[in-house]
Amino acid sequence: PSSAYYDFVIVGGGTSGLVVANRLSELNNITVAVIEAGESTLNNFNVSNVMGYSTAFGTQIDWAYQTVNQTYAGGLKQTVRAGKALGGTSTINGMSYTRAEDVQIDNWEAVGNKGWNWKNLFEYYKKSEGFQVPTEDQIADGANYNASYHGMNGPLKVGWPTSMTNSSFFPVLRQTFEKLGVQYNSDANGGKMVGFTVHPDTIDREMNVREDAARAYYWPYEARSNLKIISNTRANKIIWANATQGEAVAVGVEATNAYGTQSIYANKEIILSAGALRSPALLELSGVGNPVILGEYGIPVKVNITTVGENLQDQTNNGLSWEGIDTLTGLATFSILPSVNQLYGNNVTALESYVKSNLITYAKTVSTASNGAVKESDLLEAFNLQYDLIFKSQVPYAEVVFSPGDQSFAVEYWPLLPFSRGSIHIQSANPSVLPAINPNYFMFDQDVEAQVTVAQYIRKALGTAPLNSLVRNEVFPGLDVLPANASSSTWDSWIKANYRTNYHPVGTNSMLPREKGGVVSPELKVYGTKNLRIVDASILPFQLCGHLTSTLYAVAERASDLIKESHLI
Ligand code: FAD
Repeated sequence: PSSAYYDFVIVGGGTSGLVVANRLSELNNITVAVIEAGESTLNNFNVSNVMGYSTAFGTQIDWAYQTVNQTYAGGLKQTVRAGKALGGTSTINGMSYTRAEDVQIDNWEAVGNKGWNWKNLFEYYKKSEGFQVPTEDQIADGANYNASYHGMNGPLKVGWPTSMTNSSFFPVLRQTFEKLGVQYNSDANGGKMVGFTVHPDTIDREMNVREDAARAYYWPYEARSNLKIISNTRANKIIWANATQGEAVAVGVEATNAYGTQSIYANKEIILSAGALRSPALLELSGVGNPVILGEYGIPVKVNITTVGENLQDQTNNGLSWEGIDTLTGLATFSILPSVNQLYGNNVTALESYVKSNLITYAKTVSTASNGAVKESDLLEAFNLQYDLIFKSQVPYAEVVFSPGDQSFAVEYWPLLPFSRGSIHIQSANPSVLPAINPNYFMFDQDVEAQVTVAQYIRKALGTAPLNSLVRNEVFPGLDVLPANASSSTWDSWIKANYRTNYHPVGTNSMLPREKGGVVSPELKVYGTKNLRIVDASILPFQLCGHLTSTLYAVAERASDLIKESHLI
């Protein structure tokens, strides 16, 4: 067994972890190590190929986590993809770059996280971004932007693919959705997302490759001698100082690779960035969590925080497809983000009162499912905020994505703010055993109902001119399987038999005041510890309407400044 010493040790060289590694190692008197279970994908075509979405699934760079059987969703397991590579999940994701609704980020501050609001985070979205202004051809195909929303000098290249879906497609979608009452949004990245938009991607347009976290934040800086990447190495747990009083002091990380187990020590801080599905498990393996769960595996309690691993929030995705008339090539980045009023029209009042009257039941059910680890009153506050976002602020209620292809026409969709809540916990004290993931998909009928409404809306849109001129028959599921007048139980079983996760898990180490069930403080410090922080999707207290990476890059940029400030460096 060997050991090594650094100022900062970061666990997880993924989307968020590499931002922090980069910003801390800007200071050449500071040493930084990153422990990453995966390896470099710089020469992996499944990663770099901008048309290669899904080709990395099931390969060695995909953790392919399995959920537990999903009780409310037909009983089967789901595979939750996540990147096991330098760059993390940004190496295998869909590259969509959409931020969040401004009021959603403002809610972070409203619940007690001072300084976390849209205005502050907006500057960090821009700090991370190296926006590539669209070319004339791209503008003709629908790319558009408001310059004041974008950063031009950040490390992360954001722009449109070299080959966008061509010609007439953009005006066809625009005209169709304007008829349905959804207006064109020329740039959804300024905090107002509702509408039809042609969003940018995380792409290096000149090189025509995916821009993942490693390409943006690590490879251009790899020569820094104070930045050490320890790849193909799994972190097992935190090593604590021997104190029995006061805040817990983290001194290092125990990690295992092909050569054995070693201790990697940190003089200043340890930062967990292993993602929403792993950081809570690392806390539990280190004795931070719910004493009942730690007790089951004989792990001594270092810090008692019952909510570690709770508040898991994900979305569910389904798709329909049609026979297409034309062949449309290129990477499509067309999204419709309708509000609840746009989706439900006159039926919205009934829905609104139904949801309102159920919030207490949702809070009770989730609290009970957590064996009381999450308090009903905290859940009720969160559900009320979510209700207000949907019905008062009218944030997007769903995302609908169009992918026209070779005489085929696929449409995927996901309701953005489900009420279901789940958890993730260790199922062994052995760090090589993966945690038990239980998102509780479709815990509430309302989350199924949202799926049905969006699918019916898509059918309506595909039957509306001029979009209807691009398609023939519905191929999947087809009207024979799911007739226009299908009963709600037919819809219910189709949705549960065909859904997949939308791969947006958040919330499992929520940033909230400790008395409201938080795991980390507004400085992203784990409560009860002196020098252990978390920077990744697990700290987002609530689900977002945007895809996650843009916000994670911004959060990690801000977190880096907070870390530097707290050490006066
Ligand atoms: P990650 O990027 O997952 O980083 C965690 C890192 O920690 C990984 O590298 C992992 O290998 C490492 N790690 C884990 N455990 C250990 C351990 N014990 N020891 C050492 N290392 C460890 N978002 C978008 O913005 N746009 C999209 O189009 C989009 N599409 C998606 C499509 C798919 C298929 C998936 C799976 C996700 C998608 N997302 C998308 C979501 C987004 O990519 C993720 O939310 C985000 O990348 C998560 O970042 P993170 O920093 O929290 O974790």
